[in-house]
Amino acid sequence: MKRRPLIAGNWKMHLTVAEAKSLANDIAAGDIPSDRDVMLAPPFTALAAVGETLKNTPVLLAAQNNCWEEKGAFTGEISPVMLKDAGCVMAIAGHSERRHIFGETDILINKRVAGALKFGLTSILCIGETLEQREAGNTFIVLEKQMRQGLSGIDGFAEEQLVIAYEPVWAIGTGKTASETQAQEVHRFLRNLLVDLYEKNIADNIRILYGGSVKPDNVDILMTQEDVDGALVGGAALQAESFIRIINFNA
Ligand code: PEP
Repeated sequence: MKRRPLIAGNWKMHLTVAEAKSLANDIAAGDIPSDRDVMLAPPFTALAAVGETLKNTPVLLAAQNNCWEEKGAFTGEISPVMLKDAGCVMAIAGHSERRHIFGETDILINKRVAGALKFGLTSILCIGETLEQREAGNTFIVLEKQMRQGLSGIDGFAEEQLVIAYEPVWAIGTGKTASETQAQEVHRFLRNLLVDLYEKNIADNIRILYGGSVKPDNVDILMTQEDVDGALVGGAALQAESFIRIINFNA
């Protein structure tokens, strides 16, 4: 089963509007093979400008987070409708920094996933265990809870509208990457969980990305794995050269 790979760049809280436009322009001008999807998630302040830059290019625009409501008294939140208006087609939910720095719970993250799908955005649900949880032998228990709660009541979506990103917390921004075997073991477990939650033909079409210190020198081996369908990239997405190399993985 070959799923269309997705290489996603998460710029986190980096770049001014001018810097973001310039980097988006450099990435979009790079070699982007037509058999894969590429996505950039700039900070909210740069979304509209980067959206303009990416118009008529194959690079997709995403938000780093989304509210579940269309509008209203939700200070500090951005609605899926506003994100679409800025050109977004995807939104990340439940990034480990949202979970661990800002205390977002599975229940809240589930609302974000539901809200994105309801208004026609593809939702990228991030899950991942901490080092402590891995060392205690609880990786699969933690991931199963995050998946089941994050996807609670989520149904009736088109398969390409839901993406899972496995991002072990101990690998994010640390330079430590899961080995390809560790990544495949978890991705296979997650695929089986998706079969349990949905039907096999749906589970087979949902992309599962790996994230955590993906770099030009480890992307190729990670992408050889059967259930690794792409990468969510932080640090290495902040330079055009390294991100373009990651986009051009050879697997
Ligand atoms: C991320 O931001 O989701 C991430 C994986 O970061 P990094 O690639 O820097 O580890």
